[in-house]
Amino acid sequence: MDIGSGYVLALGQQGRASLREDEHGDLLIVGGGITGALCAYACMKAGIRVVVIDASMSAFSSTRFSTGLLQYELDMPLGPLADMIGLDKAVRVWRRGQEAIGEMARIASEVGEASLHVRTSIQFASRPSHVEGLRREHALRVKNGFDVELLDKSAVQRVLPAVRTCALRSEGAEVDPASFAKRLLDEVVKGGGKVYEHTEMVGWKRQGQGYVVTTRRGGAVHASHLVMATGYHSASLLQRPVMDLASTYVVASQPMDPEALWEGRSLIWETGNPYIYLRTTSDHRMVIGGADEPFRDPRRRDQLMQKKVRHLLKRFGQLMPGTEFVPAATWCGTFGGTRDGLPYIDRDPGTGAWFILGMGGNGIVFSQVGARIVRDQLLGRVDPDAELFRFERAW
Ligand SMILES: Cc1cc2nc3c(=O)[nH]c(=O)nc-3n(C[C@H](O)[C@H](O)[C@H](O)COP(=O)(O)OP(=O)(O)OC[C@H]3O[C@@H](n4cnc5c(N)ncnc54)[C@H](O)[C@@H]3O)c2cc1C
Repeated sequence: MDIGSGYVLALGQQGRASLREDEHGDLLIVGGGITGALCAYACMKAGIRVVVIDASMSAFSSTRFSTGLLQYELDMPLGPLADMIGLDKAVRVWRRGQEAIGEMARIASEVGEASLHVRTSIQFASRPSHVEGLRREHALRVKNGFDVELLDKSAVQRVLPAVRTCALRSEGAEVDPASFAKRLLDEVVKGGGKVYEHTEMVGWKRQGQGYVVTTRRGGAVHASHLVMATGYHSASLLQRPVMDLASTYVVASQPMDPEALWEGRSLIWETGNPYIYLRTTSDHRMVIGGADEPFRDPRRRDQLMQKKVRHLLKRFGQLMPGTEFVPAATWCGTFGGTRDGLPYIDRDPGTGAWFILGMGGNGIVFSQVGARIVRDQLLGRVDPDAELFRFERAW
């Protein structure tokens, strides 16, 4: 029986008011998702007066749909990325991702966010023809100082009984991104920052040494610095396109007996493209996602939902025969990618406003990289790796 429709707000959950009057700060961040929240927290801790506005509720856009795997292993392996941008730069990008995961783990513990767990990450060869590439990738990572292990078939089968190839095991983490973002924004407010929801930026311009941002309901924000943490909504704010939008699918199981979950509760993914990935959650669910489609049209995306759910469950059955996956929730979402898999963390050449656009399967890791680059820049420190993430790659 269908007894309702629409999104049910968890009544009593903490909401924030919209901006009614003019506001002032050192830094205005537009967007209260995980990117805006990490940046706001880093800047607040550095003594910067932060204002955050979000058109909707914070952590309610792609941050809410995210499955929260934190991996410094990019969708683009180190070898192919090195072929594209050079080994030195590729290693620096990977290294920054690794540092960012450590930083997020430290921040999570600082703010009491319990959903972040350090996990090993296992990437298995989807096909025998991928084994050689995985071995080469292993050798290159080891040579460049990354802590990664090559698992043979029998070691892989302790986790994935039906897989007959090899795998790489390295470090990663998992988090509930929406919970983390909300907790960070709470801390920002406790630290003297301002966070406004239901406050949509409708205009922005330079004024003197700073910016004035106008909002739909009238109040304006005056700030010395401006950061767009607007995620995949950013296309209309940029002069030229920088990302390709795609659709992705997820199924979460009912909570399980923790003993029935796979060894080490590793993050699991594969070399195939599009790939599938698996993780477990704090409440002992299994999550399987992926099966991406290279378009964003929401109607087409949603029409494919049932087919994709069947596909994901079939893949789960093939990988872990004997483990029952009873679906509890299914969803799909839009996400953005770039040709080289790297984010854009840069200033708009026209206005000087910062953009932090984490992309692809490592979007959240890059949110933290961006938070640090922007914070340091505002403090007058130059981050030598900032050059890796410039818009000029696309333009
Ligand atoms: C199904 C799915 C699974 C994913 N899994 C992973 C994963 O495992 N690991 C990973 O790292 N990444 C993953 N991602 C990607 C990750 O979710 C994104 O990189 C991340 O959520 C982006 O966060 P954000 O804060 O930049 O953007 P968002 O969460 O979209 O936040 C942007 C905010 O800006 C606000 N905004 C936009 N325009 C305006 C305006 N004009 N005025 C005011 N506010 C505005 C929006 O309301 C929104 O709240 C996944 C994505 C999806 C969809």
